[in-house]
Amino acid sequence: MENKTTTNDLTRVLSGLWEYTVCDASETSDGLVVEVIATRLDAPCPVCGTLSDRVKSYRISTVVDSSCFGRRCRLLVRRRAFRCVNAGCERKSFTEATSEVPRRARVTTRCRVQMGVAGRDCSTASVAAEFAVSWPTACKAIKAQAEQVIAQRPKTPPRRLGIDETRFWWKVPWLTGLVDLDTGELVEVIEGRTSKTVTDWLETLSDNDQQQIKVVVCDPHAGYRHAITTSLEQATVVVDRFHVAMLANKAVTDVRRRRIWEQQDRRGRKIDPGWRARKDLCRRVENVTDNGWSRIIAAMQADTGTDSIEGDLAWTWAAKEHLTTIYDSSLNRAHAHRQLLWWYSYVADHPVPELVRLATTISKWENEFLAYFDTRATNGVTEGLNRIIKHVKRLGFGYQNTDNYRLKILYRCQPLQPLQSTPPATTDPTAALSL
Ligand SMILES: [Zn+2]
Repeated sequence: MENKTTTNDLTRVLSGLWEYTVCDASETSDGLVVEVIATRLDAPCPVCGTLSDRVKSYRISTVVDSSCFGRRCRLLVRRRAFRCVNAGCERKSFTEATSEVPRRARVTTRCRVQMGVAGRDCSTASVAAEFAVSWPTACKAIKAQAEQVIAQRPKTPPRRLGIDETRFWWKVPWLTGLVDLDTGELVEVIEGRTSKTVTDWLETLSDNDQQQIKVVVCDPHAGYRHAITTSLEQATVVVDRFHVAMLANKAVTDVRRRRIWEQQDRRGRKIDPGWRARKDLCRRVENVTDNGWSRIIAAMQADTGTDSIEGDLAWTWAAKEHLTTIYDSSLNRAHAHRQLLWWYSYVADHPVPELVRLATTISKWENEFLAYFDTRATNGVTEGLNRIIKHVKRLGFGYQNTDNYRLKILYRCQPLQPLQSTPPATTDPTAALSL
């Protein structure tokens, strides 16, 4: 008898199922099959909660469990059906359930948690394949885990908020990501990129939380600015410096392309010096190599068609460099403002159409441009999180359900939580009723 007890304890430790006793185990071509039965002799009625030990019948259900020693594992659970002993109860009979194998469950609780954890970094389809369950089962497990992790996030309102958009798919082309720039945490992902999108989200915050937001960094998108200036009067809007650099680079590229069309009546090719210098022209001056300089000079000479380099391309390139240098060399807002005025006069002296368009955009966003020198806030963190968002999309080969996509993105942006070793489950049988 003593020997049997020891074996039971050993199998319980190995299986990690604290509410069950292992009856049998066999190895099949499909993995390990373990037959178990609930250790307790009674079970609570799901309606009245009265404990009953009057077994009516048995039935065996197959439940997917976590892998065991490198093998897939399925449980054959001998579930007992009990008669309710409470004469006044409307439920005449019920099947037992535990916290480890809830009612009607086809997957054990611990396996569901494992699927949920695995789903943070994998596509739902690959989790379903790994655990040999259907796609909806895997999706449900991942969503449950994601919702739990997201609900546990600290609820501190952001003081500095980053806003940026990402592409989704043709039916919902844009999503807007809202990032706490101090903690680097993705606060929310919302559908659309209009002023209303952001305003609606801000309205979900309490007045106090809204007041906490002091700085908002966004790209030069009028919708975002309108939403912030109308909803958050105390917040300073800053246009992201990397987007300004991108606009300046775009002006250089546009001039290079236009000039090649004007000269060659076709788009650029490898034989065109301008095309060969396309990447060098968009680099910051300190990052250009010796070979890069030769390519830039050749491109500028080809632009003028003479030995001189002073043409549209050179002026636009120089304007781009001057503009981006303001960010590094300005000591404060007033200093930056003086440099910007000089930059306007430079553009006025060299009125290349693309450059004039850039200067017009900058002048429309001048306040937000100069606000950088008060706050030194950038959207670097937001762009980093955009990379994760794109990664999630590619892992899943695209998404169509916005809710699933949003949940997966927010889940993926949370730190990875290691699996806990299974502690002995509660011995209170009524705990299973809440599942
Ligand atoms: Zn009952």
